[in-house]
Amino acid sequence: MGKRTSENVLLNIALKNFYGAAEELGLEDSLVEILGNSERKLSVSVPVVMDDGTTKVFNGYRIQHSTAIGPAKGGTRFHPDVNLDECEALGMLMTWKCSLAGIPYGGGKGGVECDPLQMSKGEKERLSRTYAARIEPLIGTWIDAPGPDVNTGGQEMIWFMDTISKIRGKVEPALFTGKPVGLWGSEGRVEATGLGVATCALEFLKAIKKDPKGTTFVIQGFGNVGTHAALTLVNAGATVVGISDITGAYYCPKGIDIKKAQQHASAHPKKLLEGFEQPGLEKIPAEELLLLEADILIPAALEGVVNKDNADKVKVKYIVEAANGPITPDADAILDAKGVLIVPDFLANSGGVIGSYFEWAQNLGGFFWTREEYNSRLLHIMKGNFKRVWDFSQERHVKMRRAAFMAAIARVAEAARLRGIFL
Ligand code: GLU
Repeated sequence: MGKRTSENVLLNIALKNFYGAAEELGLEDSLVEILGNSERKLSVSVPVVMDDGTTKVFNGYRIQHSTAIGPAKGGTRFHPDVNLDECEALGMLMTWKCSLAGIPYGGGKGGVECDPLQMSKGEKERLSRTYAARIEPLIGTWIDAPGPDVNTGGQEMIWFMDTISKIRGKVEPALFTGKPVGLWGSEGRVEATGLGVATCALEFLKAIKKDPKGTTFVIQGFGNVGTHAALTLVNAGATVVGISDITGAYYCPKGIDIKKAQQHASAHPKKLLEGFEQPGLEKIPAEELLLLEADILIPAALEGVVNKDNADKVKVKYIVEAANGPITPDADAILDAKGVLIVPDFLANSGGVIGSYFEWAQNLGGFFWTREEYNSRLLHIMKGNFKRVWDFSQERHVKMRRAAFMAAIARVAEAARLRGIFL
Protein backbone atom coordinates (compact mmCIF):
# COMPACT_ATOMS: atom_id res chain seq x y z
CA MET A 1 0.00 0.00 0.00
CA GLY A 2 2.77 2.46 0.90
CA LYS A 3 2.29 5.92 2.29
CA ARG A 4 -1.11 7.47 1.77
CA THR A 5 -2.22 10.97 0.89
CA SER A 6 -5.77 12.25 0.90
CA GLU A 7 -7.84 14.86 -0.90
CA ASN A 8 -9.47 15.50 2.45
CA VAL A 9 -7.59 18.31 4.18
CA LEU A 10 -7.91 16.96 7.69
CA LEU A 11 -6.98 13.40 6.77
CA ASN A 12 -4.01 14.64 4.80
CA ILE A 13 -2.87 16.64 7.85
CA ALA A 14 -3.27 13.59 10.10
CA LEU A 15 -1.27 11.40 7.70
CA LYS A 16 1.46 14.00 7.18
CA ASN A 17 1.88 14.55 10.91
CA PHE A 18 2.04 10.82 11.53
CA TYR A 19 4.54 10.05 8.74
CA GLY A 20 6.76 12.97 9.81
CA ALA A 21 6.92 11.91 13.45
CA ALA A 22 7.25 8.22 12.50
CA GLU A 23 10.29 9.05 10.38
CA GLU A 24 11.89 11.03 13.18
CA LEU A 25 11.24 8.09 15.52
CA GLY A 26 12.75 5.64 13.03
CA LEU A 27 9.53 3.58 13.07
CA GLU A 28 9.79 0.39 11.02
CA ASP A 29 8.03 0.36 7.61
CA SER A 30 5.52 -2.32 8.61
CA LEU A 31 4.21 -0.20 11.49
CA VAL A 32 4.18 2.93 9.34
CA GLU A 33 1.86 1.05 6.96
CA ILE A 34 -0.28 -0.48 9.69
CA LEU A 35 -0.77 2.72 11.66
CA GLY A 36 -1.20 4.80 8.50
CA ASN A 37 -4.44 2.87 7.90
CA SER A 38 -7.56 2.26 9.96
CA GLU A 39 -8.44 -1.20 11.24
CA ARG A 40 -12.11 -0.75 10.38
CA LYS A 41 -14.21 1.80 8.53
CA LEU A 42 -17.95 1.54 8.76
CA SER A 43 -20.41 3.52 6.61
CA VAL A 44 -24.10 3.35 7.40
CA SER A 45 -27.32 4.91 6.13
CA VAL A 46 -29.55 6.41 8.78
CA PRO A 47 -33.22 6.79 7.73
CA VAL A 48 -35.21 9.21 9.85
CA VAL A 49 -38.91 10.06 9.69
CA MET A 50 -38.94 13.86 9.91
CA ASP A 51 -41.64 15.82 11.73
CA ASP A 52 -43.33 16.73 8.44
CA GLY A 53 -43.84 13.04 7.65
CA THR A 54 -41.13 12.77 4.97
CA THR A 55 -38.24 10.34 5.34
CA LYS A 56 -34.66 11.55 5.06
CA VAL A 57 -31.65 9.27 4.81
CA PHE A 58 -28.48 10.55 6.49
CA ASN A 59 -24.92 9.26 6.10
CA GLY A 60 -23.30 7.89 9.24
CA TYR A 61 -19.82 6.55 9.97
CA ARG A 62 -17.73 4.84 12.62
CA ILE A 63 -13.97 4.44 12.36
CA GLN A 64 -11.76 2.19 14.45
CA HIS A 65 -8.26 3.40 13.69
CA SER A 66 -6.28 1.28 16.13
CA THR A 67 -7.04 -1.14 18.93
CA ALA A 68 -3.38 -1.97 19.61
CA ILE A 69 -3.52 -0.58 23.15
CA GLY A 70 -7.18 -1.28 23.94
CA PRO A 71 -10.75 -0.77 22.74
CA ALA A 72 -11.21 2.04 20.22
CA LYS A 73 -12.45 5.21 21.92
CA GLY A 74 -13.66 8.45 20.45
CA GLY A 75 -16.53 10.83 20.04
CA THR A 76 -19.56 11.06 17.78
CA ARG A 77 -20.01 14.20 15.72
CA PHE A 78 -23.30 15.51 14.33
CA HIS A 79 -22.39 18.15 11.76
CA PRO A 80 -23.08 18.96 8.08
CA ASP A 81 -19.36 18.48 7.22
CA VAL A 82 -19.01 14.96 8.66
CA ASN A 83 -17.64 12.41 6.18
CA LEU A 84 -15.68 9.16 6.26
CA ASP A 85 -12.27 10.79 5.72
CA GLU A 86 -12.84 13.35 8.44
CA CYS A 87 -13.84 10.57 10.84
CA GLU A 88 -10.72 8.64 9.90
CA ALA A 89 -8.48 11.65 10.57
CA LEU A 90 -10.16 12.29 13.90
CA GLY A 91 -10.02 8.58 14.79
CA MET A 92 -6.29 8.57 14.13
CA LEU A 93 -5.91 11.60 16.35
CA MET A 94 -7.79 9.73 19.09
CA THR A 95 -5.25 6.90 18.92
CA TRP A 96 -2.44 9.37 19.65
CA LYS A 97 -4.51 11.22 22.22
CA CYS A 98 -5.34 8.11 24.25
CA SER A 99 -1.78 6.85 23.93
CA LEU A 100 -0.25 10.11 25.09
CA ALA A 101 -2.74 10.33 27.94
CA GLY A 102 -1.59 6.92 29.17
CA ILE A 103 -5.11 5.47 29.18
CA PRO A 104 -5.89 1.91 28.02
CA TYR A 105 -7.58 2.76 24.72
CA GLY A 106 -7.02 2.81 21.00
CA GLY A 107 -8.67 5.44 18.81
CA GLY A 108 -11.93 5.75 16.94
CA LYS A 109 -14.45 8.33 15.81
CA GLY A 110 -17.90 8.49 14.33
CA GLY A 111 -20.59 10.82 13.25
CA VAL A 112 -23.57 11.65 11.13
CA GLU A 113 -23.69 14.19 8.31
CA CYS A 114 -26.60 16.32 9.48
CA ASP A 115 -27.41 19.77 10.83
CA PRO A 116 -28.75 19.23 14.35
CA LEU A 117 -29.42 22.97 14.74
CA GLN A 118 -32.16 22.62 12.10
CA MET A 119 -33.69 19.49 13.69
CA SER A 120 -36.32 19.08 16.39
CA LYS A 121 -35.64 17.07 19.53
CA GLY A 122 -37.77 14.22 18.21
CA GLU A 123 -35.88 14.15 14.90
CA LYS A 124 -32.55 14.13 16.76
CA GLU A 125 -33.72 11.28 18.98
CA ARG A 126 -34.76 9.16 15.97
CA LEU A 127 -31.48 9.96 14.22
CA SER A 128 -29.43 9.04 17.32
CA ARG A 129 -31.27 5.78 17.94
CA THR A 130 -31.11 4.62 14.32
CA TYR A 131 -27.42 5.52 14.06
CA ALA A 132 -26.68 3.56 17.27
CA ALA A 133 -28.63 0.55 15.96
CA ARG A 134 -26.76 0.69 12.62
CA ILE A 135 -23.29 0.64 14.23
CA GLU A 136 -24.37 -1.84 16.94
CA PRO A 137 -22.71 -4.94 15.46
CA LEU A 138 -19.30 -3.32 15.62
CA ILE A 139 -19.28 -1.54 18.98
CA GLY A 140 -18.81 -2.79 22.53
CA THR A 141 -17.40 -1.77 25.90
CA TRP A 142 -14.23 -3.76 25.13
CA ILE A 143 -14.38 -3.21 21.33
CA ASP A 144 -15.19 0.39 20.56
CA ALA A 145 -16.83 2.78 23.01
CA PRO A 146 -18.17 6.03 21.51
CA GLY A 147 -18.37 9.28 23.44
CA PRO A 148 -19.58 12.82 22.71
CA ASP A 149 -18.10 15.27 20.23
CA VAL A 150 -19.31 18.36 18.33
CA ASN A 151 -23.11 18.77 18.76
CA THR A 152 -23.57 15.63 20.86
CA GLY A 153 -23.73 15.37 24.64
CA GLY A 154 -25.45 13.63 27.53
CA GLN A 155 -28.85 13.32 25.86
CA GLU A 156 -27.48 11.69 22.70
CA MET A 157 -25.35 9.31 24.77
CA ILE A 158 -28.44 8.18 26.66
CA TRP A 159 -30.40 7.63 23.44
CA PHE A 160 -27.46 5.55 22.20
CA MET A 161 -27.14 3.61 25.46
CA ASP A 162 -30.86 2.96 25.76
CA THR A 163 -31.12 1.75 22.17
CA ILE A 164 -28.19 -0.68 22.47
CA SER A 165 -29.34 -1.84 25.92
CA LYS A 166 -32.76 -2.69 24.43
CA ILE A 167 -31.25 -4.51 21.45
CA ARG A 168 -28.95 -6.54 23.68
CA GLY A 169 -31.41 -7.06 26.51
CA LYS A 170 -29.04 -5.78 29.19
CA VAL A 171 -27.86 -2.41 30.40
CA GLU A 172 -24.71 -1.31 28.58
CA PRO A 173 -23.61 1.73 30.60
CA ALA A 174 -19.84 1.71 29.92
CA LEU A 175 -20.32 1.46 26.16
CA PHE A 176 -20.99 5.19 25.84
CA THR A 177 -19.33 7.90 27.89
CA GLY A 178 -20.36 11.48 28.51
CA LYS A 179 -23.70 10.38 29.96
CA PRO A 180 -25.59 12.68 32.32
CA VAL A 181 -24.87 12.56 36.04
CA GLY A 182 -27.56 10.43 37.66
CA LEU A 183 -27.80 8.10 34.67
CA TRP A 184 -24.41 6.41 34.82
CA GLY A 185 -22.54 9.63 34.07
CA SER A 186 -19.75 11.09 36.16
CA GLU A 187 -19.63 14.25 38.20
CA GLY A 188 -17.01 16.30 36.36
CA ARG A 189 -17.29 14.83 32.83
CA VAL A 190 -19.11 17.83 31.31
CA GLU A 191 -16.41 20.22 32.48
CA ALA A 192 -13.49 17.81 31.93
CA THR A 193 -12.32 18.88 28.44
CA GLY A 194 -12.46 22.61 29.20
CA LEU A 195 -10.85 22.12 32.58
CA GLY A 196 -8.08 20.10 30.94
CA VAL A 197 -7.51 22.77 28.26
CA ALA A 198 -7.28 25.49 30.92
CA THR A 199 -4.98 23.33 33.04
CA CYS A 200 -2.64 22.89 30.08
CA ALA A 201 -2.73 26.64 29.43
CA LEU A 202 -1.94 27.37 33.09
CA GLU A 203 0.88 24.79 33.17
CA PHE A 204 2.23 26.34 30.00
CA LEU A 205 2.20 29.79 31.63
CA LYS A 206 4.06 28.30 34.61
CA ALA A 207 6.66 26.78 32.26
CA ILE A 208 7.29 30.12 30.54
CA LYS A 209 7.17 31.90 33.93
CA LYS A 210 4.19 34.07 33.16
CA ASP A 211 1.51 34.99 35.68
CA PRO A 212 -2.10 34.18 34.64
CA LYS A 213 -3.06 37.53 36.18
CA GLY A 214 -2.58 40.05 33.40
CA THR A 215 -2.55 37.34 30.72
CA THR A 216 -5.18 37.87 28.03
CA PHE A 217 -7.01 35.11 26.16
CA VAL A 218 -9.14 34.90 23.04
CA ILE A 219 -11.38 31.85 22.83
CA GLN A 220 -12.97 30.83 19.55
CA GLY A 221 -16.03 28.67 20.20
CA PHE A 222 -18.27 29.03 23.24
CA GLY A 223 -19.64 25.51 23.40
CA ASN A 224 -18.97 23.09 26.21
CA VAL A 225 -15.17 23.14 25.85
CA GLY A 226 -14.66 26.87 25.29
CA THR A 227 -17.03 27.85 28.09
CA HIS A 228 -15.45 25.66 30.75
CA ALA A 229 -11.92 26.55 29.68
CA ALA A 230 -12.84 30.24 29.90
CA LEU A 231 -14.44 29.87 33.35
CA THR A 232 -11.37 28.05 34.72
CA LEU A 233 -8.96 30.62 33.28
CA VAL A 234 -10.94 33.55 34.64
CA ASN A 235 -11.03 31.85 38.06
CA ALA A 236 -7.23 31.64 37.88
CA GLY A 237 -7.09 35.42 37.38
CA ALA A 238 -6.72 35.59 33.60
CA THR A 239 -8.71 37.94 31.34
CA VAL A 240 -10.71 36.71 28.37
CA VAL A 241 -10.99 39.55 25.85
CA GLY A 242 -12.71 37.75 22.98
CA ILE A 243 -15.21 34.91 22.53
CA SER A 244 -17.33 33.69 19.63
CA ASP A 245 -19.84 31.17 18.38
CA ILE A 246 -21.78 30.75 15.15
CA THR A 247 -23.71 33.96 15.90
CA GLY A 248 -20.55 36.08 15.75
CA ALA A 249 -17.57 37.33 17.73
CA TYR A 250 -17.64 39.45 20.87
CA TYR A 251 -14.68 41.59 21.97
CA CYS A 252 -14.04 43.58 25.13
CA PRO A 253 -10.43 44.65 25.81
CA LYS A 254 -11.18 45.12 29.53
CA GLY A 255 -12.35 41.53 29.82
CA ILE A 256 -15.59 39.67 29.18
CA ASP A 257 -17.79 38.63 32.08
CA ILE A 258 -17.61 34.91 31.28
CA LYS A 259 -20.08 33.86 33.96
CA LYS A 260 -22.65 36.26 32.46
CA ALA A 261 -21.90 35.05 28.95
CA GLN A 262 -22.40 31.46 30.10
CA GLN A 263 -25.71 32.32 31.76
CA HIS A 264 -26.82 34.15 28.61
CA ALA A 265 -25.96 31.20 26.35
CA SER A 266 -27.59 28.63 28.61
CA ALA A 267 -30.82 30.65 28.64
CA HIS A 268 -30.78 30.98 24.82
CA PRO A 269 -33.03 28.40 23.10
CA LYS A 270 -30.10 27.16 20.98
CA LYS A 271 -27.44 27.77 23.67
CA LEU A 272 -25.89 30.61 21.69
CA LEU A 273 -24.34 34.00 22.50
CA GLU A 274 -26.76 35.86 20.19
CA GLY A 275 -27.85 39.10 21.91
CA PHE A 276 -25.18 38.99 24.62
CA GLU A 277 -24.28 42.45 25.89
CA GLN A 278 -22.09 44.08 28.53
CA PRO A 279 -20.60 47.58 28.85
CA GLY A 280 -17.64 48.04 26.48
CA LEU A 281 -18.45 44.89 24.49
CA GLU A 282 -18.16 45.15 20.74
CA LYS A 283 -19.51 42.72 18.15
CA ILE A 284 -16.81 42.18 15.54
CA PRO A 285 -16.72 40.11 12.31
CA ALA A 286 -16.12 36.44 13.17
CA GLU A 287 -12.90 36.22 11.12
CA GLU A 288 -11.34 39.07 13.12
CA LEU A 289 -11.51 37.16 16.38
CA LEU A 290 -8.54 34.96 15.50
CA LEU A 291 -6.51 38.06 14.64
CA LEU A 292 -7.09 39.96 17.89
CA GLU A 293 -4.27 41.33 20.02
CA ALA A 294 -3.88 39.03 23.08
CA ASP A 295 -1.36 36.70 24.71
CA ILE A 296 -3.00 33.35 24.08
CA LEU A 297 -5.49 32.13 21.48
CA ILE A 298 -7.60 29.06 22.22
CA PRO A 299 -9.38 27.78 19.09
CA ALA A 300 -12.16 25.67 20.58
CA ALA A 301 -14.43 25.10 17.58
CA LEU A 302 -13.60 23.19 14.42
CA GLU A 303 -10.56 22.13 12.40
CA GLY A 304 -8.55 24.21 9.94
CA VAL A 305 -9.58 27.66 11.24
CA VAL A 306 -5.99 28.92 11.31
CA ASN A 307 -4.70 28.32 7.79
CA LYS A 308 -2.35 29.77 5.19
CA ASP A 309 -4.77 32.63 4.50
CA ASN A 310 -4.76 34.08 8.00
CA ALA A 311 -1.75 32.62 9.88
CA ASP A 312 0.59 35.52 9.12
CA LYS A 313 -1.97 37.95 10.55
CA VAL A 314 -2.29 36.12 13.90
CA LYS A 315 -1.00 38.41 16.66
CA VAL A 316 -0.89 36.16 19.72
CA LYS A 317 2.39 34.67 20.96
CA TYR A 318 0.91 31.39 22.09
CA ILE A 319 -1.87 29.03 20.98
CA VAL A 320 -3.47 26.27 23.01
CA GLU A 321 -5.46 24.01 20.68
CA ALA A 322 -8.76 22.99 22.25
CA ALA A 323 -10.38 21.91 18.97
CA ASN A 324 -9.08 18.92 17.05
CA GLY A 325 -6.80 20.06 14.19
CA PRO A 326 -7.54 23.81 14.28
CA ILE A 327 -4.21 24.73 12.64
CA THR A 328 -3.28 23.43 9.18
CA PRO A 329 0.36 22.33 8.59
CA ASP A 330 0.96 25.37 6.30
CA ALA A 331 -0.21 27.64 9.08
CA ASP A 332 1.85 25.68 11.60
CA ALA A 333 5.00 26.45 9.59
CA ILE A 334 4.08 30.15 9.25
CA LEU A 335 3.39 30.42 13.00
CA ASP A 336 6.60 28.57 13.80
CA ALA A 337 8.60 31.03 11.72
CA LYS A 338 6.96 33.86 13.68
CA GLY A 339 7.99 32.17 16.96
CA VAL A 340 4.43 31.33 18.07
CA LEU A 341 4.47 28.45 20.57
CA ILE A 342 1.65 25.90 20.24
CA VAL A 343 0.30 23.45 22.80
CA PRO A 344 -1.07 20.71 20.50
CA ASP A 345 -4.66 19.50 20.42
CA PHE A 346 -4.23 15.91 21.49
CA LEU A 347 -2.40 17.01 24.61
CA ALA A 348 -4.49 20.10 25.40
CA ASN A 349 -7.95 18.60 24.83
CA SER A 350 -7.26 15.14 26.25
CA GLY A 351 -9.17 15.98 29.46
CA GLY A 352 -12.37 14.89 27.74
CA VAL A 353 -11.31 11.39 26.91
CA ILE A 354 -9.42 11.01 30.20
CA GLY A 355 -12.69 11.95 31.88
CA SER A 356 -14.46 9.40 29.69
CA TYR A 357 -12.01 6.77 30.85
CA PHE A 358 -12.86 7.62 34.48
CA GLU A 359 -16.56 7.25 33.65
CA TRP A 360 -16.00 3.93 31.86
CA ALA A 361 -13.95 2.60 34.80
CA GLN A 362 -16.62 3.68 37.28
CA ASN A 363 -19.38 2.10 35.16
CA LEU A 364 -17.46 -1.17 34.97
CA GLY A 365 -16.98 -1.15 38.71
CA GLY A 366 -20.52 0.07 39.43
CA PHE A 367 -19.04 2.47 41.95
CA PHE A 368 -19.01 6.27 41.67
CA TRP A 369 -16.34 8.75 42.65
CA THR A 370 -16.90 12.23 44.02
CA ARG A 371 -16.30 15.28 41.84
CA GLU A 372 -13.22 16.11 43.96
CA GLU A 373 -11.72 12.70 43.32
CA TYR A 374 -12.51 12.93 39.60
CA ASN A 375 -11.02 16.41 39.23
CA SER A 376 -7.94 15.72 41.29
CA ARG A 377 -7.10 12.62 39.23
CA LEU A 378 -7.76 14.57 36.03
CA LEU A 379 -5.50 17.45 37.03
CA HIS A 380 -2.79 15.05 38.17
CA ILE A 381 -2.77 13.26 34.79
CA MET A 382 -3.02 16.46 32.71
CA LYS A 383 -0.18 18.16 34.58
CA GLY A 384 2.03 15.07 34.32
CA ASN A 385 1.36 14.72 30.59
CA PHE A 386 2.02 18.40 29.95
CA LYS A 387 5.32 18.20 31.83
CA ARG A 388 6.43 15.11 29.88
CA VAL A 389 5.77 16.77 26.53
CA TRP A 390 7.23 20.12 27.59
CA ASP A 391 10.43 18.56 29.00
CA PHE A 392 10.88 16.38 25.91
CA SER A 393 10.43 19.35 23.59
CA GLN A 394 12.96 21.40 25.57
CA GLU A 395 15.54 18.59 25.77
CA ARG A 396 15.28 17.59 22.10
CA HIS A 397 14.64 21.11 20.77
CA VAL A 398 11.52 19.98 18.93
CA LYS A 399 8.10 21.63 18.82
CA MET A 400 5.58 20.42 21.40
CA ARG A 401 3.43 18.92 18.63
CA ARG A 402 6.32 16.80 17.37
CA ALA A 403 7.28 15.81 20.93
CA ALA A 404 3.69 14.76 21.68
CA PHE A 405 3.44 12.77 18.44
CA MET A 406 6.67 10.95 19.09
CA ALA A 407 5.71 9.94 22.64
CA ALA A 408 2.23 8.86 21.52
CA ILE A 409 3.36 6.86 18.49
CA ALA A 410 6.11 5.15 20.49
CA ARG A 411 3.56 3.74 22.99
CA VAL A 412 1.20 2.48 20.28
CA ALA A 413 4.12 0.98 18.34
CA GLU A 414 5.37 -0.83 21.43
CA ALA A 415 1.91 -2.35 21.98
CA ALA A 416 1.66 -3.34 18.31
CA ARG A 417 5.11 -4.98 18.40
CA LEU A 418 4.29 -6.93 21.54
CA ARG A 419 1.06 -8.23 20.01
CA GLY A 420 2.58 -8.97 16.62
CA ILE A 421 0.60 -9.14 13.39
CA PHE A 422 -2.21 -11.69 13.36
CA LEU A 423 -5.46 -10.00 12.48
N1 GLU B 1 -14.72 13.97 21.57
C1 GLU B 1 -13.72 13.93 22.59
C2 GLU B 1 -12.35 13.97 21.97
O1 GLU B 1 -12.17 14.35 20.82
C3 GLU B 1 -13.91 12.82 23.61
C4 GLU B 1 -14.23 11.48 23.07
C5 GLU B 1 -14.63 10.43 24.12
O2 GLU B 1 -14.76 10.80 25.27
O3 GLU B 1 -14.76 9.27 23.73
O4 GLU B 1 -11.36 13.70 22.62
